[in-house]
Amino acid sequence: ATPTAILVGTGRGAQLGVLIRGPEILESTRRVDTVVLDKTGTVTEGRMRVVDVWGAGRSTVAEPVEADANHLTDAPDVLRYAAAVESLSEHPIARAITAAGRSAGEPETGTPLEVTGFIAHAGGGVEGLVRRAHSGLALGGALNTRRVLVGRPAWLVEQGVTVPEEVRTAVRQQEEAGATAVAVAWNGAARGVIALRDPAKPTSARAVAELQELGLRPYLLTGDSEGAALVAARAVGIPDEDVIARVLPADKATVVAQLQAEGHTVAMVGDGVNDAAALATADLGLAMGTGTDVAIEASDITLVRGDLRAAASAVRLSRKTLRVIK
Ligand code: ADP
Ligand code: MG
Repeated sequence: ATPTAILVGTGRGAQLGVLIRGPEILESTRRVDTVVLDKTGTVTEGRMRVVDVWGAGRSTVAEPVEADANHLTDAPDVLRYAAAVESLSEHPIARAITAAGRSAGEPETGTPLEVTGFIAHAGGGVEGLVRRAHSGLALGGALNTRRVLVGRPAWLVEQGVTVPEEVRTAVRQQEEAGATAVAVAWNGAARGVIALRDPAKPTSARAVAELQELGLRPYLLTGDSEGAALVAARAVGIPDEDVIARVLPADKATVVAQLQAEGHTVAMVGDGVNDAAALATADLGLAMGTGTDVAIEASDITLVRGDLRAAASAVRLSRKTLRVIK
């Protein structure tokens, strides 16, 4: 009856939206005591939207406000150049900036900005050479091209970009208010800030409560700022001390390994390319079915509908199935 019970267990999982790679996975699922949750796209919608665009050189720093056409025109170049480069990236931040750039519209005279030499730096930002299309006079190609970078201020500094104090202040204010803020730079200096928000999925708070009821300890792990991480954690009931922010993609696996070294059996739930190594390192990797193929391939279990509550279902199912067997 043992193999039958396991097959019934995995079959029941499929009904619950939990795709289990193989029957042996149920055993590691049962033993898990710690769950590391990626923030963006796992706990949150992963659909950011731009809530503020700020351009350097203005005398006052904008308060976080809802995006509206009038406000966006205050910093047209910041949004236009950022959107041109981000249109080549798949990151949730990039999608939001591209969409905001599109709705802000192109000036009548301009044709779409051309981007070459695009590079995505995981956990840092993006860069590209943006070619300004309209220049009545025959300026040289080089003069007409700007190296535009969009990303975390610390990463911009690593790239040799100057980040003026007023830009740092704008970023800090947005982060303290719980937004994700990226700086936009060209000609060697940061010149603007774009703030974004990404609300928690409606099911995430319930999912965290269910995981806690099962005796598991959920952590929130993210490459994002402390401010944005705390806002997301509080929205779903994860205590501040279990928030691990500003973790580079390569270090997410290290965090999982540290928890394992402390004697925990660790599940990791993620959706992104930046989660793949951590998913593979964890005793149990769970990928959002709505996430990237890379994350799904690195995982033992796929949560088909991208609903975090299915992680709790998987744990309950493994306990029930293996209890039947014993
Ligand atoms: P998460 O762990 O929340 O999925 P990432 O590791 O992908 O976050 O990114 C961490 C940080 O790196 C972001 O909060 C942002 O500051 C910066 N970043 C990454 N990709 C981009 C991008 N395409 N554009 C701008 N900034 C980016
Ligand atoms: Mg993610």
